[in-house]
Amino acid sequence: MDECRHRTQLEDDTIAITFDDGYKDNYTHAYPILKKYHAPFTIFVSTGYIDTTNMLTKEEIAAMHKDKITFGGHTVTHKVLSGLNREAATSEISGSKSALEQILKENVKYFAYPYGKKGRDFTNETMQIVKECGFTAAFSTKNGCIDSNSNYFALNRIGIRNVPLFVFKSRLSGIFENKFITLLRVILGL
Ligand SMILES: [Zn+2]
Repeated sequence: MDECRHRTQLEDDTIAITFDDGYKDNYTHAYPILKKYHAPFTIFVSTGYIDTTNMLTKEEIAAMHKDKITFGGHTVTHKVLSGLNREAATSEISGSKSALEQILKENVKYFAYPYGKKGRDFTNETMQIVKECGFTAAFSTKNGCIDSNSNYFALNRIGIRNVPLFVFKSRLSGIFENKFITLLRVILGL
């Protein structure tokens, strides 16, 4: 992110791996594999669910953080932020930041919007609140790549679900993100 922001030259095909919500399998399954391949990643945590069933514990978060895994905010209770008034949205956004900072003992810079579609799940006002809460960038779930011209408070990602390996590979290649394919997907509702 910082490389992108500061317009440092990135290698072609640079990717960042992110997970949302803070499920325990990020620790039990993803972490060992990504560690084996020296692939850094970021987890956006809904902090109200830390230490509950199937979710990460404080200890697991702290252990991964020691191993250079990045953590970001994802609200406290995973509400649709566009449906909240300013005060409630601020408390959800800043609450996740401060809860993580208490565990990590360092500044939390990144945020991901629950559900993540701009205009539906978050608005320009939400983006403003995220900025005011002290985050430096925030991620949507809009499909696409990012570059130095991207809006840092509504960054695209490429959502990967349980798909065959060849689909996974082609999605990572970015070929689905060109304008024609994006338009086709909108038309076909995919
Ligand atoms: Zn989520």
